[in-house]
Formats: sequence, C-alpha cells, structure tokens
Amino acid sequence: MRKKIVAGNWKMNTTVAEGVALAKDLVAALGQVPSDVNLVVAPPFVHLTSVGEVIADSKIALSAQNCANKAKGAYTGEVAAAMIAGVGCEYVILGHSERRQYYGETSATLVEKMALAFENGLKPIYCVGEMLAEREAGNHFAVVRAQIEEVLFGLTAEQMANVVIAYEPVWAIGIGVTATSEQAQEIHAFIRKVLAEKFGALAEEITILYGGSCKPSNAKELFACPDIDGGLIGGAALKAADFIAIAQSY
Ligand code: PEP
Repeated sequence: MRKKIVAGNWKMNTTVAEGVALAKDLVAALGQVPSDVNLVVAPPFVHLTSVGEVIADSKIALSAQNCANKAKGAYTGEVAAAMIAGVGCEYVILGHSERRQYYGETSATLVEKMALAFENGLKPIYCVGEMLAEREAGNHFAVVRAQIEEVLFGLTAEQMANVVIAYEPVWAIGIGVTATSEQAQEIHAFIRKVLAEKFGALAEEITILYGGSCKPSNAKELFACPDIDGGLIGGAALKAADFIAIAQSY
C-alpha cells in the first residue's frame, strides 16, 4: 500500500501569526480527515518553529520548501538542510518549478540538495513537470524523464524509498486550470514506468502526488486515478477548510 499524502505548499504567504492560526485550524479539523491520509504542511522557513509547535502532537508533518545546496558556511541568505532538520522537519520540497524558473535551479544543484537532505534525515518531495510550450510540442514525457533520470537515478534504493514525487505541470500551477485526470494519470503512470527501469518493483511503492490547481472540486476525480497518491496543494492549502476538504476527497 502506497502512502497517501496531501501536502500544503504555503509558498511565500502568511505572516507567522497567520501561519500559526492556519495550523491551529488544521489541527482542530483533523478528526474529519481519513486516518490513512497523511497531511504535510510546508510553511516559509521563519514559521517552521512556531508552526512545528502547533502541529507537534498531531499527525501533520512539517516540511520546508527548499534547502541550500551547501552544508554550511558563507552563503548569505541560505538555509541548510541541517537547520531544517533541527527544527523538526520531516520533509523538504526540492525542485519546485518556481525555484527552477525564477532561481535557476538545475539538476546539478538538485543532486547536491538531495544528498544533503538525506544526510540530515529529511525526505525529499521532489517536483517534476513540464512548461506549457513543452507539452504543446509533445515533449512533456522527455522533460519529465530527464528530471527524474538526472536527479533520482543516482540514488540508492534505500534513498529512493524515502522520496515522494510531485508531478506539477507548470501550466496548471496557480492559475485555476488543472490537468485533466486522464492527462495526470497518463504521466503518473509514465513516471512509475521510468522509476521501474532503474528501481524495479520499488516503483510501485513510491508515492506520486499531483500538483497544479488541485482544489476541493477536482481532488476526488484526480485522487481516484490508480497512480495518483495524493496532492501537493498551493493556493487551496491557505484555507484550512479547502485543504481539509481536499484531504477528505479520498
Ligand atoms: C504548487 O505550486 O505546488 C501548486 C500546486 O500550486 P497551486 O495549487 O496553487 O496550483
């Protein structure tokens, strides 16, 4: 049985007070979430400690949105994987399309980040996904294959077992347009096939999330697909009621 996960990527939203209030609302609503659905929240770095305190005794796990590609030292403004682990994170999102697009994150950088995440006991939520022009040109399978091969194929099976993948078509992020469940299932099955080429039967155990304008109105259909094991949620994760409704969609 693959782990079902609904993860909220808060991005650069909420003050600490707003983030704590959101986390409290989530904890208060946990009774409505099916017991086999695991929740993860990824607030901004400066909220990790205070949000971590709110969710400490709950089944909500803490994630960072990124980590540095260096262990420590003179890298002004960066946050190390060890620091993230030190404030109680279980997960770290790596390779989000906004980091690839706006901050020039490459596969080479992501290999370094991934290694540091593992050294510090963090589980990466590794994001892959194509741009609109790449899908329109029919290149989406090749793009996603490259993102997987370049960053995940160097992992050991033991490391791979601790990776969660999030397929996020860049054209569906934050704009309200979601991939159809057929499009999402097709590429999720493809991702599993590519993983199987390297990791064999382990591919069947890997949790693959869908992300991109997932909301209460479309989550049920997406999560019903055989290779979709949950969601990475952006905008809808900022409202406790919506995030909980998505988690209830299984
Ligand atoms: C995301 O960027 O991880 C995401 C899925 O955003 P949204 O749900 O807002 O499209």
